[in-house]
Amino acid sequence: MRPEILFSLFKPVTSLKGVGPRIGKLIETVAGPNIVDLCWHLPSGVIDRRYSPKISDAQSGTVATMVVNVLKHNKPPNRRLPYKVTCSDDTGIMSLVFFHAHSDYLLTHLPEGETRVVSGKIERFGNELQITHPDHIGTLDELENMKRIEPVYPLTTGLGLKPLGKAVLAALDLAPDLGEWIDPNLLRRENWPSWHDALLSAHHPETDDDMAPTSTARARLAYDELLANQVALALMRNNMKTIKGRSFQGDGQLQNQIERNLPFELTASQKQAFKEICDDMGTQSRMLRLLQGDVGSGKTVVALQAMMNAIETGAQAAIMAPTEILARQHLATIEPLAQAAGVKTLLLTGREKGKKRDAILEALADGSVKIAIGTHALFQGDVAFQDLGLAIIDEQHRFGVHQRLTLAGKGRGVDILVMTATPIPRTLMLTAYGDMDVSRLTEKPAGRKPVETRTIPVERLDEVIGAVGRALQTGTKIYWVCPLVEESRKIDLAAAEDRFEQLRHIFGDRVGLVHGRLKAKEKDAAMEAFLNGPVDLLIATTVIEVGVDIPDATIMVIEHAERFGLAQLHQLRGRIGRSDKTSTCLLVYSGPLSQTAHDRLKIMRESDDGFRIAEEDLRLRGAGELLGTRQSGLPEARLADLAVHGDLLAIARDDASVFLNQDPNLESARGQEIRTLLYLFNRDSAVLNLRSG
Ligand code: ADP
Ligand code: MG
Repeated sequence: MRPEILFSLFKPVTSLKGVGPRIGKLIETVAGPNIVDLCWHLPSGVIDRRYSPKISDAQSGTVATMVVNVLKHNKPPNRRLPYKVTCSDDTGIMSLVFFHAHSDYLLTHLPEGETRVVSGKIERFGNELQITHPDHIGTLDELENMKRIEPVYPLTTGLGLKPLGKAVLAALDLAPDLGEWIDPNLLRRENWPSWHDALLSAHHPETDDDMAPTSTARARLAYDELLANQVALALMRNNMKTIKGRSFQGDGQLQNQIERNLPFELTASQKQAFKEICDDMGTQSRMLRLLQGDVGSGKTVVALQAMMNAIETGAQAAIMAPTEILARQHLATIEPLAQAAGVKTLLLTGREKGKKRDAILEALADGSVKIAIGTHALFQGDVAFQDLGLAIIDEQHRFGVHQRLTLAGKGRGVDILVMTATPIPRTLMLTAYGDMDVSRLTEKPAGRKPVETRTIPVERLDEVIGAVGRALQTGTKIYWVCPLVEESRKIDLAAAEDRFEQLRHIFGDRVGLVHGRLKAKEKDAAMEAFLNGPVDLLIATTVIEVGVDIPDATIMVIEHAERFGLAQLHQLRGRIGRSDKTSTCLLVYSGPLSQTAHDRLKIMRESDDGFRIAEEDLRLRGAGELLGTRQSGLPEARLADLAVHGDLLAIARDDASVFLNQDPNLESARGQEIRTLLYLFNRDSAVLNLRSG
């Protein structure tokens, strides 16, 4: 249970005064649903409002906070013209200018004949001094409060600085004083403020230096986040160690049969990774290994061989995928090979229900089926195995760490293999996976042709459509990706739908559409129609990112390629180039390109190597952003930026391990504070580990 002292921080933002459902929704998209998320929403800039001149002295181009008498409202004859309010002080006259004004609102806030305080950017038009849309309007008693250095926060469409700034201030008011969880020596050495002070000063920067990630306030908050993460990982690791592992050493019979039936040779990388996995499985301790391999590098066969190793000893194996379509794809790959070796396989997703599901559960419970392939449905409470020995989790980033452990809990000393296509740079491994062992598939299967990648300005979209038409005539399957940007899902979805309509008009029923708003079933049906059905040109938002294998697809068009991160472009492009045919990726961009976007597209043209791309990505964007993005799949880091705080990560990791050695159950005084820290950063499941372990 979350400690009481944090209750106020974990209330929804709508519990704040002035935050209704509409603003609440917007705050949720930009910061998060709870008050604590507002605390973590740090300023990206400042506006200095301390300059408070008389009208005659006011410098145009500067931001000023001014005391004025409201003289006259000049309502324009139509709403296309600006609404002007004439104001004065004892030195001169100026105007406040509003476009699309609501006169009721303005008359209430700027009543004629009254004194008001306004703050905004001063401009001069000819002889006239103006402020267009003042940022703040208030009464005289608000003057001192308005004349401050105002933090500027990252915003979203529909959410202005004023309501957001207010909400943040209200959130900070609720932030309690918390006990200290940082090692006192470290705190002294770094000269860090307390958590509460750090939070307040991070939200009240006065200079750019104060906003640097290395400022004492921000560094401390970053360290808090890193420490929470490292303690959580260490607790999980310790918990795993308390459960004894088993040694799985198959006799190789099934493995040999599989290998004989493969239509290809395993690559040296695959052999090496499999050897590492076997070595782990053979020991008495539990395996916790990450199999990292670029898209298309052939992780599934390695997984299959690892399963055979467990099955040869009489145990069962399970493989879990993040979506139904991926689970079924694994089934399609694995089942024939397993069957040829006399091993039974079954599929369990949310779709298997009633009698069918009962039969599946029975086959798993009595051990008559050795391989279970499925989605999160495999986690459900009533799913039991006769003897689960190996749990494989594919495309791990779609699952939480907690789920990983739940599956492991369905057997005795279960070995765990996590597979990911995210080419996480080594520098980030530590944060994401702690001390997990790693095997890497560094080469692609033989015979793959590299994807030819070209960049094309959107002005030449007609040519792209022409090329798509010609390719369709030769029976090629084509992905057409439209971007989905967080802030405006609706607009982007509309863009994908428009493109779909347009292309269907040209190419008819061979065009399909798949996007994130579809229900799982509809999504699967759309993918299925592309895989085996009548659809040859699939318009998609980024939902196709995760490992769908459609070898016939050899062309991919990515619209607004400049909006995607490198890792995401690489993941997307990995959907093609999966056969011996030449594949082409067309990156359609709309200019002008920022330097970073330009560099990204260039790297895409030059390189096909996931690890190089990941390193470049880190270089171009900074680790913070990389960590925060969906495709990286890492626990979201909001305060820590590994490009800057890498040294803090190392300290946090050592601190966590030294401390947990002394106080493995977090019972000492500092241990109690660290519990609070874990809750503060939503690492509740780590604390649960503690209880049960
Ligand atoms: P991923 O690592 O993205 O999960 P998959 O395991 O889905 O990759 O493999 C992609 C494709 O490559 C599959 O069709 C698979 O059969 C094939 N493949 C795997 N290993 C090899 C190999 N050594 N030689 C040739 N093809 C291979
Ligand atoms: Mg895969």
